[in-house]
Amino acid sequence: MAPSSASDSPIAAEYRRPTKPPAAPATLTAVTTYGGDSVPASELIDIGVNLTHKRFHRDRDAVIQRAADAGVTRMVLTGVDAPGSQAALELAQLHPGRMTATAGVHPHHAADWDGDTEAALRRLLAAPQAVAVGETGLDFFRDFSPRPAQEAAFEAQLDLAAETGRPVFLHQRDAAERFLAILRAHRQRLCGAVLHCFTGDQTLLHACLDLDLHIGVTGWVCDERRGGALRECVADIPADRLMIETDAPFLLPRDLEPRPRDGRNEPAFLPHILRAVAALRDETPAALAETTRTTAERFFGLAG
Ligand SMILES: [Zn+2]
Repeated sequence: MAPSSASDSPIAAEYRRPTKPPAAPATLTAVTTYGGDSVPASELIDIGVNLTHKRFHRDRDAVIQRAADAGVTRMVLTGVDAPGSQAALELAQLHPGRMTATAGVHPHHAADWDGDTEAALRRLLAAPQAVAVGETGLDFFRDFSPRPAQEAAFEAQLDLAAETGRPVFLHQRDAAERFLAILRAHRQRLCGAVLHCFTGDQTLLHACLDLDLHIGVTGWVCDERRGGALRECVADIPADRLMIETDAPFLLPRDLEPRPRDGRNEPAFLPHILRAVAALRDETPAALAETTRTTAERFFGLAG
C-alpha cells in the first residue's frame, strides 16, 4: 500500500475524533482486582498486543485506560501485515513512552509478501518506535499461506532484522523443525529473538534456549488442559529470557473470573497471567513483574 502520514490514517483520525465514553461491560469494572489479589507495585510490559485489531475499534481508549489501571503501563503492539504494522506504529506514536510496535508479516499473510511489502516494512523500521521485526515465522497448523511462501517471507524478514539491527518477534505453530533450522542459519546475525506465545514442551523449550531465544508466555499457561506441557516447563526459562504477553484480543486466559461475556482478551488481564506464571515458578508476582519488565526493556531497547 502507498505510504501515508500519521495525520491522514484511519487510526490517527479516529484518535482526533471526540469519542463518546464507551459503555464498559459490567464485568470489567473491577479489573484491578481480577484474580482476587492486588496488582504488583512494579509496572508491567505486555510484549504482544494486537491493539489495532477490529475487536478493539469500539472502545480502544477504554482498553488502554483499563490496562494502565491494572499496572500494564507499556505495550508492544503486534504488526501482522504491512498495513497493520503501519497502523500499529501510528498508534504507538500517539502514545510515546507507553507504546511501541513491531513491523512484520505474520505467516498467515506470507502469501502477500513481495518487494513492496519489504520496502514498506523497511520504511516503518526507520522509526524509533518500531522496535522489532515481526510477527514472523511459520504456522503449519493453519497453513493459511503455502509453506514455501511462509519460509520465504520468514527468511526475508530475518534478513531485514539483521540489516536494520532490530530483534525479531517470532511465531511458530506445528512447524518446529523447519522453524529451528531456518532460525539457526540466521541466528548469528540477529541481535535478539523472542518466540512469542510459546506453547511447546520441555524439549522444544530447550532447543529454543540453545538458540539463545527469549520466550514470551501468554494466558495459554492458564489452561490446565491445553497448557499442560508449558506449565511443566515454564520454570525452566531463565529469568533474563522470560517475558509475558496477552496476545489480546486472542487467548483469553481460560480460568479468568469473571469471564468477559464477549470472550475478548485485553491487556488489563496481564496481571492474571503474571500470577499464574509466578505460581508455577514459585516466585512472588512482584519479583516476576520486576524481572519480566527489565528483560523486556533490555530486549526491545525500551527506556527504563
Ligand atoms: Zn503469534
